[in-house]
Amino acid sequence: MFSPVSILVVTALSSILSILVLISLLPNAIAGVPRWICANVLALVSLVLFAMQGGLPPVLGILMANQLLAATVLLIFEGCTQFFDAGTRPARSNVGWLAWLAVLAGIAYFTYKAPDVNMRVVIVSAFHAACDLAIMARVLIAWPRERPRYNYFFAAGAAGLGGIGHLVRGSIYVAAPPSQTALLQPGAMQIAFLALGILVLPSLSIGLVMMAHDRLSQRLERLARFDDLTGALSRKAFLQLAAARLARPAQDGAREYVAVIDIDHFKSVNDRYGHAAGDEVLRHFCALVTARIGEAAFGRIGGEEFCLMRAARTRAEFAALVEILRQAVESTPCPLPGVMLRYTFSAGIACRSDSESLATLLARADARLYAAKVGGRNRVESEAASVAA
Ligand code: GH3
Ligand code: MG
Ligand code: MG
Repeated sequence: MFSPVSILVVTALSSILSILVLISLLPNAIAGVPRWICANVLALVSLVLFAMQGGLPPVLGILMANQLLAATVLLIFEGCTQFFDAGTRPARSNVGWLAWLAVLAGIAYFTYKAPDVNMRVVIVSAFHAACDLAIMARVLIAWPRERPRYNYFFAAGAAGLGGIGHLVRGSIYVAAPPSQTALLQPGAMQIAFLALGILVLPSLSIGLVMMAHDRLSQRLERLARFDDLTGALSRKAFLQLAAARLARPAQDGAREYVAVIDIDHFKSVNDRYGHAAGDEVLRHFCALVTARIGEAAFGRIGGEEFCLMRAARTRAEFAALVEILRQAVESTPCPLPGVMLRYTFSAGIACRSDSESLATLLARADARLYAAKVGGRNRVESEAASVAA
């Protein structure tokens, strides 16, 4: 029932499916996907060549078939490098391609010069084992720890299974080579390894697709969580985080403080220099703030209105932080085409009183912001005392 050729044909069909699924990911520009598609195309051609081995000249049925399959795993490895390190290191593995050339030389030698099917299996198995284990290691080392691990472990597990299978196969052919003259002679061991192959290549492709899908969810979550113009938390994400902070027990007598911050005369920036310049000022402002607030929560809650939340022991401690921000913004002009634009902000501070809701806390901070605006802008107002510019 399980003839080697039928197993190869089924694996080839699953490669077609993998190609079709991976193509669906192309519009999302995920690093590594084009290489994974190429890998499956090569696998498909290689598997067809293997299946037709008996009726083909050795250069196609042996040399070409083996080299294409070897290139498949190498391309999958390179695709993983790209997927995890896009832009930070070259995807091409020079060592891998040198080893690939060495495999080519070895296969040619043991096909034409000293025909030996067992030695060919040893060479090919060593190469596949190294690549599969390298894929497993790459995924296990690089998977983003804040993401659900299942997708990554699935891919690593498939690669690991392939690596171990090839190691065992290579070792058997070194220690006790079976007597055979062609790779596709039916036999229990041959069938077992081909069955492993049928499991590993499609599983690995499914694992890669799962990793790519997780990358997509990561992007969507990022889009929902962060304001794409400024990189600050989005309004929704900030309010969620702030509510969570208020729900947790106070630590060491510290209390939660909020500052509602609004850029002064921002409309005139837009009117005078254009909307793009206004956007640049918003980015500039957020870069200055996020560099100085450490672990504090910082979100964009409206057009040019932001909110900062942090636990502090005293009002003075929190007000000092906001004052540092005010001075930094006042003294650091934003570079715009043809002008260094000076701008300022006003802020209102409120301290959370026992079990007060987020909404009333923000409303109190907002009232202080209004007072800061009325008081002349470029100032930080808190309830008990004011720290004027
Ligand atoms: P005030 O000192 O009283 O705060 O004056 P203001 O001009 O800053 O206040 P106002 O609320 O009148 O103006 C806010 C402006 O912010 C109006 C709106 O066009 C602009 N704005 C809101 N979101 C964006 C944005 O994403 N990019 C740009 N460039 N402008 C924005
Ligand atoms: Mg404003
Ligand atoms: Mg405003």
